[in-house]
Amino acid sequence: MSNGHSPFAHWPEAIQPRENIELTTRMAGADGLPPAFQFSQNSLQDYADCPRRFQLRYITGLRWPAVQSEPVQEHEQFVQQGIDFHLLAQRHQMGLPIEDIRPTGDPLALWWDNYLRFPPAGLPEQVRYPEIQFSTALSGFRLMAKIDLLAVAPGERIVIVDWKTTRKRPDRATLSERLQSRVYPFVVVEAASHLFGGTIQPEQVSLMYWFAQAPINPEVFGYSAADHTENTNFLSTMIAEILNQDEPIWPLTPEDFHCRYCVYRSLCDRGVRAGNLDEGGLDLADDEPEFDIDWENIEAIAF
Ligand code: SF4
Repeated sequence: MSNGHSPFAHWPEAIQPRENIELTTRMAGADGLPPAFQFSQNSLQDYADCPRRFQLRYITGLRWPAVQSEPVQEHEQFVQQGIDFHLLAQRHQMGLPIEDIRPTGDPLALWWDNYLRFPPAGLPEQVRYPEIQFSTALSGFRLMAKIDLLAVAPGERIVIVDWKTTRKRPDRATLSERLQSRVYPFVVVEAASHLFGGTIQPEQVSLMYWFAQAPINPEVFGYSAADHTENTNFLSTMIAEILNQDEPIWPLTPEDFHCRYCVYRSLCDRGVRAGNLDEGGLDLADDEPEFDIDWENIEAIAF
């Protein structure tokens, strides 16, 4: 591609597309997904926010060199502290004696203090499964859920706990609209019966969001057979829609809001500068910086 004929010729050198990057897609629909691809709450949320983002991230596989939010260093520290918090909580839930560990630096020190003083209340005590992953078949694909903590009273009830390290507490309506709130209970009902000792009735499952910044005010969602039926239809329909996308460039979101914290914003001509962490966009769980914890490498983190 010659920059003289490129639609990106006006871009600064640093964000020029590389010659070998195909900016449309290798293939559209199911054929373009990587082998053994599994849908997840993150990939489905990407599609819900912006089909083009899903295409670029999962079909094209494009890693775009842009920051998600600014200031860059503060963003990176914030994400790292979220990872560190999840690691501490995992080890604590595994029963390791780490109560005396006092991480330094805010907000991690505050989050951990909140965790120890105000842990989620009312969880089953019998069995705890921190950082556990399930998957189930749906529409010919696997749908997976990586869960921070599963608290189980076998044969009685299951509570799914998600640690939230967002800067501000999202409201209930926002949380209820997140794909996470559908995917987690759906997958647990379908795939966790071996931990429960038998078939799980949807009413035996609940989902708790626990907020490191607001620990005494978690948000709890019940679940029901009607919810499960609705989620089956909703998630199947969404996956079918993804698989049926056949345009070379999938639709770009009309909501500029999603672009402010999207790494592809320069590629989509939706602005070059990242949104600011303090501008309010990250008040919503919708724009919580994503991080996928690589548990294979997490041991390298020291406190
Ligand atoms: S910058 Fe906006 S339009 Fe482009 S992929 Fe990201 S969210 Fe979608």
